[in-house]
Amino acid sequence: MNEYSVLISGAGIAGPALAHWLHRQGIRSTIVEQAPDLRLGGQAVDLRGLGEVVAQRMGIMPRVRERIVHEKGLRYIDRTGRELATMPADLFVGDGSPVTEIEIMKGDLTEILHDLVEEHTEIIFGDRITALSDGVDGVAVTFLSGLTRTFDLVVGADGIHSGVRSLAFGPESQFVVHLGAYLGYCTVWDAGPLDSWFDMYNEPGRMLALRPERGGTAKAMLAFADTGVDVDRRDVASQKRLLHEVFAGMGWRSEELLAAADADDDFHLDTVSQVHMEGWSCGRVALLGDAGYCGSPLTGMGTSLALVGAYVLAGELGRAQGDHAAAFSRYEKVMRPYVAASHTLPPGGVNGFLPKGRFMLRMRVLSARMMHHWPMRQLVARLLDKSDAIALPEYG
Ligand SMILES: Cc1cc2nc3c(=O)[nH]c(=O)nc-3n(C[C@H](O)[C@H](O)[C@H](O)COP(=O)(O)OP(=O)(O)OC[C@H]3O[C@@H](n4cnc5c(N)ncnc54)[C@H](O)[C@@H]3O)c2cc1C
Repeated sequence: MNEYSVLISGAGIAGPALAHWLHRQGIRSTIVEQAPDLRLGGQAVDLRGLGEVVAQRMGIMPRVRERIVHEKGLRYIDRTGRELATMPADLFVGDGSPVTEIEIMKGDLTEILHDLVEEHTEIIFGDRITALSDGVDGVAVTFLSGLTRTFDLVVGADGIHSGVRSLAFGPESQFVVHLGAYLGYCTVWDAGPLDSWFDMYNEPGRMLALRPERGGTAKAMLAFADTGVDVDRRDVASQKRLLHEVFAGMGWRSEELLAAADADDDFHLDTVSQVHMEGWSCGRVALLGDAGYCGSPLTGMGTSLALVGAYVLAGELGRAQGDHAAAFSRYEKVMRPYVAASHTLPPGGVNGFLPKGRFMLRMRVLSARMMHHWPMRQLVARLLDKSDAIALPEYG
């Protein structure tokens, strides 16, 4: 180990992945996570393209495969639950797939990554950074607990509402771009037989979905187009009341899913947003994963971006031998085209996800049916493919 010390804020996906790759470069790191323990909840996430390649290089694929969520693909249904069209997971391969074969619960992946690093990484739970002072010899960090320490570098891997980004780069309103929709999700403990399909039911501007999980539970997703109503990110009770207004009487399993949202202490609702920044570093502070370049859940690329970003950032820090400015600049140069490609939304963007009218809803069902056929399948796969956006460097 060399004398370099890196403080990573956030023990989600990007944080522990960075700690792993830094360790492989002989660089010591400390992770600070604001939650009192590992956050094992969350939705199913896909591992695709280059993300899967990095996961293979980390040696975690056997454990990932043990915990895979077996999902047949996406199925559009109507208000009675009748199938309208399907997009099977094996219809596409690689980054071009709207649904992939490697689905894993985010909590499972978080745990696998944590297990990988806990032996060699100091992990502080239940604390967070409250002040950063970037100096010639390092960054002086103050924590909520009152602790103060100095690190050579600080990396914000603390998600879309990054605290490090606010402290070092400015308020989140400068960087977080609201795409015009809200997405809430909660666990349904007894969803009955789902036949391994990710079921999705839309009415104009609204969507209800139910996605099977490992272990028999399911994740409900409730999404709606922005109606101009102010949603307070921290006021969960008012969010749940709003869901009742938006989804009451919608049909299918709406009453059951609303009841599940009411009962879930881990219920989460947020805007569907992207993070756009001109640079991901400022002095000795850098951003990684959703904190620097969240592409929104619509792209399905967040996990892969976090893993690939961690691999590249650590690799460049190792290669630069202490010249962090050179490393940060190379990190940006390598990652920028991949991030740009990954920010591209699926056809129609938010309107494709939440069509505003019945005609558009019918068109979406038709195009899903057409995707089973060549050349439509090839065309869509090419449009969505991000795997060749960058050549993954070898860092030794
Ligand atoms: C509904 C939904 C569906 C999704 N589906 C997919 C998908 O299918 N495929 C895909 O690839 N991605 C998907 N994503 C995105 C994916 O979950 C994220 O892109 C990915 O988790 C990003 O990893 P991260 O480590 O950058 O951030 P996170 O996983 O958000 O981790 C950030 C961590 O930082 C902690 N933290 C936050 N603030 C602070 C602070 N101030 N101090 C210390 N710690 C802090 C948090 O508690 C958390 O543990 C989805 C996201 C959502 C919301």
